Amino acid sequence: MEIFPLWYGLIVFFVIGACVGSFYNVVVYRMPRGISLVNPPSHCPLCKKRIPLYLNLPIVGWLMLRGKSACCKQPISPIYPIGEALCGLLGALALFSTNYSVGITGNVEDWASALAMFWLLLGIYPVCAVDFKYKLIPDTISVGGIAAGLLISLIPGGVTPLESLIGAVGAGGGLFLLGWGASKVLKKEAMGFGDVKLLAGYGALMGFTGAVEVLVVAAVLGIVVMVPWAKFHKGDGSGQIPFGPFLAVAAPAIYLWGKTLLDLYLKFVIGE
Ligand SMILES: [Zn+2]
Repeated sequence: MEIFPLWYGLIVFFVIGACVGSFYNVVVYRMPRGISLVNPPSHCPLCKKRIPLYLNLPIVGWLMLRGKSACCKQPISPIYPIGEALCGLLGALALFSTNYSVGITGNVEDWASALAMFWLLLGIYPVCAVDFKYKLIPDTISVGGIAAGLLISLIPGGVTPLESLIGAVGAGGGLFLLGWGASKVLKKEAMGFGDVKLLAGYGALMGFTGAVEVLVVAAVLGIVVMVPWAKFHKGDGSGQIPFGPFLAVAAPAIYLWGKTLLDLYLKFVIGE
């Protein structure tokens, strides 16, 4: 198996990230307008002319055009290449961080962990933005996470397909039962189904143990933030904070440092 130097991997992941960012721009533009993602093909929103493929290249296309459309010379917002560059950096960060904490050697097969990490990092923003605003978690992230986890498990080096499947079913099913039990006791809905699907995705990406750790850390974070928050916002209805963002922030942290945290916990709390 070919061993790649880190700089090469970083470039590859930056490019993958920038392409994801470019796709993300398309989704953000087309979804709210009810336009299909593939049809019609990329066109100028002003003069409706087709945009050739090479001008659609992430970042490069915008730079070649110097921020003005080729067809009608209208300014194109720099938010697009900036978003693409940020996603590219996130991709490189995913490889860089897993390279150090999970110990990637440069083998292509070790890139499974970096891909999983990239997915977790990408999820933070949409989960936080949508959950705070609409009190729901987009299926693209939660159900998409289950699909992404199962797919990435096919690449050797990370979680195996069986671990991924057990992780998804175990974590999702476990949280569902927990929420169901809590809602019986509290006599009100304790856990949204979006959280269940999101945690199932984390189970698929990092296995059952990882997902349980995410849940525990998210719950601790949630209590630390929510208890004082609820005290200050008594009675005005804004005291409720969604749980999804805590899961989304805990997930990449656990993916990187979960084993270290567990070791520390065992050492100091249980004294093993
Ligand atoms: Zn145009």
